[in-house]
Parts: sequence; C-alpha cells; structure tokens
Amino acid sequence: MAKCPHCDKPFLSPVKYEPMVVGTSSQPQLNGIAYVCPLCDAILGVQLDPLALNQELANEIEQRLSQH
Ligand SMILES: [Zn+2]
Repeated sequence: MAKCPHCDKPFLSPVKYEPMVVGTSSQPQLNGIAYVCPLCDAILGVQLDPLALNQELANEIEQRLSQH
C-alpha cells in the first residue's frame, strides 16, 4: 500500500488537494494544485490544475469561435 513519505502512514483516506499558484515574480503565475497527505498535511506534489487548464482552453475556443 502507498505510504506518505513524511509521516510514513498508509493512505487510508483520499489524498487531499489544495489550490496553489505556481510561478515566480519573473514567470507567469499559473493555477496549480498541491496534493496533500490527509493525515499530516505534507505536500506530496504540485502540478498544474487540470480543471483550470480545461477552463482556459474552453474560454480560448469560445473566443476564437466568436471572432468568425
Ligand atoms: Zn503524511
């Protein structure tokens, strides 16, 4: 069974996620999410938010369609 690398306990409940902005002062800020251990709140990983990416893509398509 998968274990948290921080508290070394198995994941018996779903891993949590929290919104997290990704980027620096010289980079564009992107919508990300952090995966968080449900037991000790350690961050297990960060990635771009797939739902936000989908929304951005949908907005882009809508914009382009309305230009024609
Ligand atoms: Zn943990």
